[in-house]
Amino acid sequence: MNKPLILVVEDDPSVRNLVTTTLKTNDYRFLVAANGEGAILEASSHNPDIVLLDLGLPDMDGVQVIRNIRSWSNMPIIVISARSEDSDKIEALDAGADDYLTKPFSVEELLARLRVTQRRLAIMPAKLMSDKSIFENGKLRVDYAGGCAYLDGQELHLTPIEYKLLCLMSRNVGKVLTHTYITQNIWGRSWDNDVASLRVFMATLRKKLEADPDSPQYIQTHIGVGYRMIKVE
Ligand code: CA
Repeated sequence: MNKPLILVVEDDPSVRNLVTTTLKTNDYRFLVAANGEGAILEASSHNPDIVLLDLGLPDMDGVQVIRNIRSWSNMPIIVISARSEDSDKIEALDAGADDYLTKPFSVEELLARLRVTQRRLAIMPAKLMSDKSIFENGKLRVDYAGGCAYLDGQELHLTPIEYKLLCLMSRNVGKVLTHTYITQNIWGRSWDNDVASLRVFMATLRKKLEADPDSPQYIQTHIGVGYRMIKVE
């Protein structure tokens, strides 16, 4: 397999060096860009496997870079945010980013996010890009055509909303979905009380899906941001 090509977009030389050194010593190839214009140019001319994108760039907002790339490509984008405000990450995720890292981050965190995204890439052609009607992840099996789900061979008795939620999470396995994205897909709108309802439905879904709802194996909570279905090994 070819070494994955990562586009690193970061204007801060110290962070850029940390990232590129980590990539070099972990068998990745990389390209760098120090601003948004450079990022769009490198992304379109080299078609990288993953983009690591700093949100605070000198020439434009990172969210604009995401919108530009998303207008022509689904390449995975992991956002790097120095700002601790959740609203920036959420805006980036809603614009089409796949995942996020908050500065300061460790080398281990960076490598873990890259691995999650690579696993997503590995299953994309086979399971996500095709119109395959069965989804399998660990002991979970969702039969989209049949409208039912199984855990360890046992049918899960889900309410229509729980089932819809499970389908949405499984079709986006590996990706962080924001509260807004989920509620818009489930209810067609996103009001404050929809996010509260989402928490309730997520809790009841987890009771059925997770062996231990307090340490979930399938659906991860991103506090203040949303949820992600994990690809189980
Ligand atoms: Ca920056």
